[in-house]
Amino acid sequence: MNQIQILPDAVANQIAAGEVIDRPAAVVRELVENALDAGATEINVSVDGAGLVRVKVADNGSGIPKGQLATALQRHATSKITQADDLQQIGTFGFRGEALPSIASVSKFNIASRVAEDDSAWALNVQGGKEETLAPAARNIGTTIEVKDLFFNTPARRKFLKATRTEMSHVQDALVRLALAHPKTTFTLMADGQETLRFGSAQGDLLEDMLPRLTKFMGRDFVENCITVEMARDGLSIHGFVSLPTCNFSNARRQYLYINGRPVRDKVLLGALKQAYHDRLTHNRHPAAVLFITMPQEDVDVNVHPAKLEVRFKNSGEIFGLVHTATRHALDAHSQTSSTTGSAQALAGFQVPMGHQNAPLSAEGISFGSGMRPPLQAAEPILGEQPIGLGLDAQPRRQDTTHQAHASTATFGHHPLGAAIAQLHGTYIVSQTEQGVILVDQHAAHERLVYEKFKKQIMEDRVERQGLLMPEVVELQTSEVDLITERMEELHTLGVEIEPFGPTAVAVRATPALLGSMNTKEMVHDLVDDLRDMKKTVNLQERLEELLSTMACHGSIRANRRLDIDEMNAILRQMEATPNSAQCNHGRPTYVELKQIDIEKLFGRR
Ligand code: ADP
Ligand code: MG
Repeated sequence: MNQIQILPDAVANQIAAGEVIDRPAAVVRELVENALDAGATEINVSVDGAGLVRVKVADNGSGIPKGQLATALQRHATSKITQADDLQQIGTFGFRGEALPSIASVSKFNIASRVAEDDSAWALNVQGGKEETLAPAARNIGTTIEVKDLFFNTPARRKFLKATRTEMSHVQDALVRLALAHPKTTFTLMADGQETLRFGSAQGDLLEDMLPRLTKFMGRDFVENCITVEMARDGLSIHGFVSLPTCNFSNARRQYLYINGRPVRDKVLLGALKQAYHDRLTHNRHPAAVLFITMPQEDVDVNVHPAKLEVRFKNSGEIFGLVHTATRHALDAHSQTSSTTGSAQALAGFQVPMGHQNAPLSAEGISFGSGMRPPLQAAEPILGEQPIGLGLDAQPRRQDTTHQAHASTATFGHHPLGAAIAQLHGTYIVSQTEQGVILVDQHAAHERLVYEKFKKQIMEDRVERQGLLMPEVVELQTSEVDLITERMEELHTLGVEIEPFGPTAVAVRATPALLGSMNTKEMVHDLVDDLRDMKKTVNLQERLEELLSTMACHGSIRANRRLDIDEMNAILRQMEATPNSAQCNHGRPTYVELKQIDIEKLFGRR
């Protein structure tokens, strides 16, 4: 075996670089964090070749005195803490003193800086960790760091990098993520000589302030479909934005959380966010969020991760509660709002295809011949005039329905969800509102209604059960029978009487009256799936709600059920009176609205 010896600094620095500097975006992040720590109000970043050829960060912060430039590049050299106790209270991004030496060890590095006391700037050149002499330079107060040929001496690292486009998007993300938390600082980003981002310092209110940055970072969809979260209690506060449940995504990547201005990825916070949406989204859909949490520095330990992305809380229960409650409140306050995404898409579907301007208009099964009046024109009730070819369900009872529809417009036209006019394809309710037209997905809507009613019954502990004439025996695997058996009591409070029936079956004796007759076997299978997933979930109430939403789905009006005008109006009125009625339990919207003004645009009336 070789002799044990202390590694040369250059090697030690490269090892540290392996932890912290994994790609060009990490260089940008570390340098911008340093600039923010130095109190800069203006930070200009430019990158060439996605940062592999060159990264340059210039700031107007406090600068580094000539005599300390070389020190700043030493390992564990920092101005931000001086003793172990300081680790309890870290108010800066940096404190490890590792970034500059790490970066310098894997690049051709130049730092130029000037402090207020000096009348000129000084620069230091380092190549692969080896310093050259100090030389005078020209710049104002502040610091410029230039990093060229990143990873030139660690080819293995270079191999792990992705396509230039991907690396560039990481660079941009890293910058905007920090910019979001510092609305008062000006940021610019140049890529290969082109200005690609410019964020001026903002003065307006929170959303206005952040709008350009937020749009760049999260996309327009999010900005148009997000709601504000705001809450403060017990020395903790949270503010930011979360997406409406109907604006959801297939992964959790669009969830950005900050502790005291520091971007973090923390399981407690992400878990709290997930729980806040639990009965509004299925397992595999995720909200987007940008949330800033402020808390006493001594209550959070940031010294647990080299890139400082993970943190540890002194009281994680409290912080979980804050994120969960604040998000929940925001969602409850907007529970009747559906996202614009859906109607914009629907509207796009109504557009006349290019080159077919004279052909009959057709959109998703709604079609009508040329010369016919557009069926969704809001000013006049459509039934009784041109119902042919609309796929209306009410054909045999056309006369009655027409009459009802007229009466209904007079009575309900001014309600937010308007007056039912017709049913399409046995699935959608068409309703006329004062300002346009609404299409309701009757199954999704009814599911939400049943669920909310059900939830109320449970809260008031008065779930009605309906005994089955013959117990229904459902075959299961042994482990599934165990899952059910463990939860028999919970299920009982939900109105399901179920018990083991031998080792591989259960017998269902009663189901919730509210749900009417249902496919018991299917419900049991879905419940088993839920219970299996739920091992992770913590609290009973939420477990119940999840089961509930599964059962509500089984008791809802399925698509393809014919409804008359009264039944449709009853659904609309119930929706108006029900919390969270803009979406079903799976986060799909329950209705979309087309404004009259948009309809008019479609027909060139505007
Ligand atoms: P850390 O940020 O953990 O202290 P770094 O290696 O990133 O470690 O930086 C070392 C030191 O160099 C910092 O503590 C700070 O004093 C100084 N420094 C780095 N960048 C800047 C900058 N842009 N402006 C002023 N000082 C800086
Ligand atoms: Mg630093």
